Amino acid sequence: MALDAQKREELQELKTQTHTTKRAIAPGLEDILYEVFPVLDHGFIRVIDYMGNDASITQAARVSYGKGTKQINQDEGLIRYLLRHRHTTPFEMCEIKCHVKMPLFVGREWLRHRTASINEYSARYSILSNEFYIPEPDQLGIQSKTNRQGRGEVLTGAEAQRVLDILKKDAALVYEHYEEMLNENEQGEVLDPNRSGLARELARMNITWNCYTELYWKIDLHNFMHFLSLRADVAAQYEIRVYALMLQDILKAWVPLTHKAFMDYRKNAVYLSQQGADVARRMIQGEQVTQESSGLTTREWQEFLQGLQLDKKML
Ligand SMILES: Cc1cc2nc3c(=O)[nH]c(=O)nc-3n(C[C@H](O)[C@H](O)[C@H](O)COP(=O)(O)OP(=O)(O)OC[C@H]3O[C@@H](n4cnc5c(N)ncnc54)[C@H](O)[C@@H]3O)c2cc1C
Repeated sequence: MALDAQKREELQELKTQTHTTKRAIAPGLEDILYEVFPVLDHGFIRVIDYMGNDASITQAARVSYGKGTKQINQDEGLIRYLLRHRHTTPFEMCEIKCHVKMPLFVGREWLRHRTASINEYSARYSILSNEFYIPEPDQLGIQSKTNRQGRGEVLTGAEAQRVLDILKKDAALVYEHYEEMLNENEQGEVLDPNRSGLARELARMNITWNCYTELYWKIDLHNFMHFLSLRADVAAQYEIRVYALMLQDILKAWVPLTHKAFMDYRKNAVYLSQQGADVARRMIQGEQVTQESSGLTTREWQEFLQGLQLDKKML
C-alpha cells in the first residue's frame, strides 16, 4: 500500500496541525490520528476524527453536570457493569470516523452494518485505481468440507500458482478494458482523441470484486463494538477480519477501559444455552456426559466443547 507524494504531503500537514479545545480527548487516539495503518496488500484504516473517551461514557451514565468522572477504579467498575448488563446507550455517546480502503467484496460485507454513516468513493464521478487484492499464498484455502462459509487447508504447488496467475492476469485485463472503454487512463488522460469513451458509471460494471474502494465510515462506540464482535471473530472471513482486528487495536487506543471490558465480556466470553449450562452443571457434579447423553446436536456439542476449550479426551 503506497500513497502518492501529494497524499503523503497532505497527511504530513494534517499531522502538524494542533488545536486547543475544551472537549474531552483520548490521548491514545490523538497519537495516531490521521496515521495510515496498512491492511491487506493495498488497503488501510485511518482515524479521521472522534468524539468522547471512557469518561464520556460514565458521564452519560450518571447524567452528570460537570466532569462526571470519579476515581478511575469507580469509572472502570461502572463501564464494566454497563457492558456486562448491556446498558448500551452510554456507549452511543462516543463516535469515531475512519477512512477505510478495502476490496469491493470486503466492502459488500462492511456495508451490511447499517448503523454507521458512510460515504463511498464514487466510481460514477472518478476513475477507479488500478489496485486489485491478490491474496498471500497462505490465504489460498480450499473450500471447507465442514463449514460451507469457510476455507480449509491451503492450496500448494502448481494449483496455488495457477490461481495467483489467473487473479493477476484477470485484474490486468479488466483494468486494460476499463481504460479502453473509458478512453482514459488511470490519471484521466485521453487515450484516443477520435473516440468519446463510455461513461464512468457504466465502464465500472466490468471491474472484478477484488478491486479496491474507499469509505468514510462514522459509527458510535456501541455499534463499533457490535461490528467487532461479528467481524473480529474467527467465523468472519479473513479479509474483513484483518480490518476488524486493526479496529480492535484502535478501540484500545481510544477507550482503554471499555476495550478491556469488551474483551472480557464480549470477545473472549463464552455464552451457554440453557441446555449447555445444564450439561456444564452435570459435568461439574462429576457426570461423564457424551454428545448422545447431552441432548445437544452434533454442531452444538462441538461448539460447546470449543467454547469451554474442553478436549474430547478429557471427558
Ligand atoms: C459470519 C457472518 C456470516 C454472514 N453471512 C451472511 C449471509 O450468508 N448472507 C447475508 O445476507 N448476510 C450475512 N451476514 C451479514 C449479517 O446477517 C448481518 O447483516 C451483518 O452482520 C450486520 O449485522 P447487524 O444487522 O447486526 O448490524 P447493523 O446493521 O449494524 O445493525 C445493528 C443492530 O441494529 C438493529 N437493526 C439495524 N437495522 C435494523 C432494521 N432495519 N430492522 C431491525 N433491526 C435493525 C439490529 O438489532 C442489529 O443487530 C453474515 C455476517 C457474519 C458476521
